[in-house]
Amino acid sequence: MSEPSVFSRILAGDIPGEILVETENVFAIRDIAPQAPLHLLVIPKTERYRDVGELAAGDPALLSEMVAVAGSLAAEHADGDYRLVFNTGANAGQTVFHVHAHVLAGGLQEKELR
Ligand code: 5GP
Repeated sequence: MSEPSVFSRILAGDIPGEILVETENVFAIRDIAPQAPLHLLVIPKTERYRDVGELAAGDPALLSEMVAVAGSLAAEHADGDYRLVFNTGANAGQTVFHVHAHVLAGGLQEKELR
């Protein structure tokens, strides 16, 4: 079996990281290198799915739950508007192959919204 991902190690308490939300199936943390005023990661507890394509095919209900948690967090920590990003594949910037959603909010300039 492969080593637990960095996210699983945070969930287990083996490395530091504030868990903002935890449900039966998912949890959320702050990204260690934020790219927006609010930058959270919503992560399924299972490491079974490497990326969002595998997750959508294998457990669409779990993907839906991640989206719902992302919306709740954006409402709680920002004004409710957010971007949801799934980097998929190393050439697209994915570095942790335990599927996760980036929840980004705040700080967008008007020109970036066009
Ligand atoms: P990816 O590049 O795979 O889409 O996203 C991985 C994200 O995990 C990156 O944005 C990175 O900053 C974040 N990350 C990596 N290691 C840690 C860590 O130890 N703690 C936290 N909170 N975030 C991490």
